[in-house]
Amino acid sequence: MSMRTTCPYCGVGCGLLVSPDGQGGATVKGDPDHPANFGRLCSKGTALGETLGLTDRILSPQIGGKPADWETTLDLVASRFQAAIRDHGPDSVAFYLSGQMLTEDYYAANKLIKGYIGTANVDTNSRLCMASSVAGHKRAFGSDTVPGTYEDLDTADLVVLVGSNLAWCHPVLYQRLVAAKKARGTRIVVVDPRRTATCDSADLHLSLTPGSDAALFNAALVALADRGAVDRSYVAQHVSGFDAALAAARASDPGLTGLAPGDLAQFLDWFTTTDRVVTVYSQGINQSSSGTDKVNAILNCHLATGRIGRPGMGPFSVTGQPNAMGGREVGGLANMLACHLDLENPQHRAAVQGFWASPAMPDQPGLKAVEMFEAVATGRIKALWIIHTNPAVSMPDADAVAAAIKGCDFVVVSDITRTDTTRLADVVLPATAWGEKSGTVTNSDRTISRQRPFLPAPGQARDDWRMIADVAARMGWADAFGWTSAAEVFAEHAALSGIAGHLGRDFDISGLAQADYDALPPTRWPVTAQQQGGRFFGQGGFFTPDGRARMLPISPRLPVAQTARRYPFRLNTGRIRDQWHTMTRTALAPRLTQHIAEPFLEIHPQDAARLGLAPATLARVTSPQGAAILRVAITDRVQPGQVFAPIHWTGDTAPMGRVDALIAPVTDPVSGQPESKAAVVAIAPLAPA
Ligand code: SF4
Repeated sequence: MSMRTTCPYCGVGCGLLVSPDGQGGATVKGDPDHPANFGRLCSKGTALGETLGLTDRILSPQIGGKPADWETTLDLVASRFQAAIRDHGPDSVAFYLSGQMLTEDYYAANKLIKGYIGTANVDTNSRLCMASSVAGHKRAFGSDTVPGTYEDLDTADLVVLVGSNLAWCHPVLYQRLVAAKKARGTRIVVVDPRRTATCDSADLHLSLTPGSDAALFNAALVALADRGAVDRSYVAQHVSGFDAALAAARASDPGLTGLAPGDLAQFLDWFTTTDRVVTVYSQGINQSSSGTDKVNAILNCHLATGRIGRPGMGPFSVTGQPNAMGGREVGGLANMLACHLDLENPQHRAAVQGFWASPAMPDQPGLKAVEMFEAVATGRIKALWIIHTNPAVSMPDADAVAAAIKGCDFVVVSDITRTDTTRLADVVLPATAWGEKSGTVTNSDRTISRQRPFLPAPGQARDDWRMIADVAARMGWADAFGWTSAAEVFAEHAALSGIAGHLGRDFDISGLAQADYDALPPTRWPVTAQQQGGRFFGQGGFFTPDGRARMLPISPRLPVAQTARRYPFRLNTGRIRDQWHTMTRTALAPRLTQHIAEPFLEIHPQDAARLGLAPATLARVTSPQGAAILRVAITDRVQPGQVFAPIHWTGDTAPMGRVDALIAPVTDPVSGQPESKAAVVAIAPLAPA
């Protein structure tokens, strides 16, 4: 007997059919009826059944590294948070969450810290992933709305992939795109400094200067205007800011891209003459000190042409994590309110506070991820709760972040396995894992899918929403957190979204408030009497005060850190095909580690020869922030002067392979997203070759 659930890895959100064997194992297949994957799976999803079991699981609460009972542990957590709030105010505490959390868990955490503790110091590792897309959407659309759907990739004539190694990072979406190319000849352009696996299917690869994407899309906007491809009627009715955006684009230098004139001309020719264009963008755009501007440079082109929210056309931000979108929907970021309502808007704050009947509501944004750990380091944050993420490895300047966590007065970590971060915690809470917990996730095209349990919770592990409610009850708010199931949390979230809908916001799933939660099929939002799923903005209807989208004038900015004699190489970072984040689950499947077994550094043959680096030897990589030792992989997939290293290895799996220790805590001024793809480093052989 198989059951339907959803993959816990990337933002594609593939549906699964799981058949438990009754002994703690299960076979996993793709769900042929799920609209994200129609039965397809990638290597990670296929190996999910091999990752079950209790290796390294945390099975009981721990205080100071020793097992403790739940009552004592929860009392301690509540009392330490209460003490910090009493002595130093609500802004002395913080939650750091994760796109791995289910929507119900995220909702509970956001309600506790914003509505009851009364601080907006809640942020998430999604800040490292897609915050620039959120900020760009809000600037252009007045809301964090993904206009299109996955079907648009099936029906586009031209797909431009910008800063997105779709083949490795969103493999099933890539499979859909390749199938469309075979079936109908879809043209594919890849914009990426590195020649990734995705380029294998590209008709054109634009290996541009790192960070110059905004210059490319400014050039595209100028070409659209000069070649008569602007949809004057759409702009006149639905868009503001066209003239200023075009003037800024004309002032920007396409030479910044470093592209060969013929390649640039070919791209502009296709981009201006094809109506059904989808521009997919991901971390190569977002993880930048000018990420929000890059997003808006892309959105400008689609708004100018009206190629948005119609079949086969639109800008499309793909999310890294399985529930990055759900976190956005519940407002689990420092500058957001629940249900896409705005923290700065008094009417929105009053609506949420009224719905929650809560004693408090912050009126200012809280600390974003990098700021939060800086505040931990300086002692401003006295109590910190980290849920399902490993910032001691994955934050920029990871060594400094680990030291900050170690020095914090009181740190709680909820997780499923021991990590570099749980080892620094005062209290560790054992959480249920994928296959054990019940809830929902939202994928990159707004489809809400159920994760369903098929295994019992091991040891004393508990669901996250329940742990949060248990602590809230001890802090005096038992009534507001009195849920008895994830279904009740979801129903409350859906009901609150109806209020957001009445206030004119995009996120409204009030039609699901009474739904049969257990049987809930994959459902794209919004779900209201007026609209079920579909696309946004094809006929205008933006969520700005005047209902018009905003085009923004964009002046391209290159990465903050510039290479120089001491640090002459530009370091790009990213994922590999068969590992996920810090490998908590994927490392349990031996066949996944066979693809690439250890951290590596891709370097161009000319640079390797100059530095005396032989293939497969070790290189010492240093930046102003830290050092790493990586296996040398000599390849012309990277340009001279540029290197690439993957992000997955931790203190457990490769103590000197922690690449985020090299990344500077430099952020985009609008989105707060770190510049994780543009460090400057020096490289030397670990031992002479
Ligand atoms: Fe899971 Fe993403 Fe692979 Fe789908 S593409 S099976 S969601 S990792």
